[in-house]
Amino acid sequence: MATTSCDVAIVGAGLGGCFLALLLGRRGRHVVVIEQGASVPSAGADFLKPPGLRVLARHGLADLVGRHGLRRDTIRYYHDGDPIQECRFPDGGFVIRPYRELVELIYTSCGMEGVEFWFDASIADIAMGDGEADGQVEELTLSDGRRLKAGVVIGADGTKSAIRQALGIEQRTMPYERLLMRVATVPLSASIARLNRLYFSSDGWLTYLYPINRDQARVFVGLPPEDDREVFQDGIPTLIDELKKFVTDSSDAFNSLQGATWQRIKVSSLRVEAYHKGNAALLGSAAFACHPMTGMGMSYTMHDAEILADVICAADGDPGLLDRLLQARYEPRKDVHRQLIDYGDALASSFRDRAAYLAAFRPDLHVYGETAAERT
Ligand SMILES: Cc1cc2nc3c(=O)[nH]c(=O)nc-3n(C[C@H](O)[C@H](O)[C@H](O)COP(=O)(O)OP(=O)(O)OC[C@H]3O[C@@H](n4cnc5c(N)ncnc54)[C@H](O)[C@@H]3O)c2cc1C
Repeated sequence: MATTSCDVAIVGAGLGGCFLALLLGRRGRHVVVIEQGASVPSAGADFLKPPGLRVLARHGLADLVGRHGLRRDTIRYYHDGDPIQECRFPDGGFVIRPYRELVELIYTSCGMEGVEFWFDASIADIAMGDGEADGQVEELTLSDGRRLKAGVVIGADGTKSAIRQALGIEQRTMPYERLLMRVATVPLSASIARLNRLYFSSDGWLTYLYPINRDQARVFVGLPPEDDREVFQDGIPTLIDELKKFVTDSSDAFNSLQGATWQRIKVSSLRVEAYHKGNAALLGSAAFACHPMTGMGMSYTMHDAEILADVICAADGDPGLLDRLLQARYEPRKDVHRQLIDYGDALASSFRDRAAYLAAFRPDLHVYGETAAERT
């Protein structure tokens, strides 16, 4: 089977892969995105916070994403039923838009820039070079026999990244073992339409309720593993009895939980030892994962994609320059991500204890993320 050549091969068509493809396509690079699924991924984040919205604005995409999204500007936090604080998002707040819709918008914009997408395409082999090309990815072979040669290879292929494994980059995954997460999509109730509310309990439970459009809401429940076995085996009445103990201002949502399907989500933090090797780099969840309570993963990933696009274009096909620029401009992102991962860990490990949670909570990082320092 023939070999295709391109400037940049991106493995993974999630937000990171699609956004980078769009930025590179706009700058005239020939980009091929390889995605194992039949389409862009359907499950993931819902909140796009101010730093991510600013990245989109820099590329003329803020209106497109904001148009059908919901704007919110406040999250109210509770502990054992009492309101303990509100986090406010000034300057237009944040946007709620289900992940699939957001990624599809970026994917559709890629079509105008000539980006090629190969769906249902899984990688069978990654050939590394030797001699002068030592440490460079030479060729990707797909399971249907197609071959792809690229000047730059990006692993935007999620937490289990095949590219990261092929590069031999070490990673450390830490599951949040004391906090199993469940999520359901339910009809919208009046209290959820009014305000986003996040409830914690000293028994180690949390419940987050927010709208995802004008008719539906998302409900996250986090709980200790031993409670998960009991509650979700015994069914919804037991769940509602437990929620009644600490969910005080959202009782109109309890009825809508009756027919809900509760999907279990595995949540872990992920740290990796390097973000690039030779002509290959990691992006998004392949490079880092933090607790979703930070709500910042997408914002950081989009900024990372901006940096990668600049570096790839500046290197302009010179492998030595690419390596040096990745080292100088992309590797330092590890420190920025480490701060976010540590912050997510601090929130997840402290929320049972009201005072400890309030001490760990950082409104600057929560609202502005890595750009907080620029705002003060
Ligand atoms: C429960 C949860 C809630 C979150 N909520 C928020 C939030 O509200 N706000 C926020 O900013 N962030 C949030 N995040 C983080 C956010 O989801 C990530 O930062 C973002 O999705 C990263 O995008 P990505 O493109 O790296 O990954 P993904 O969306 O995971 O995309 C990876 C893609 O690679 C594909 N793939 C994997 N392996 C291969 C392979 N071998 N070959 C080809 N394709 C492959 C997958 O099919 C997938 O399409 C949340 C995360 C979780 C887990």
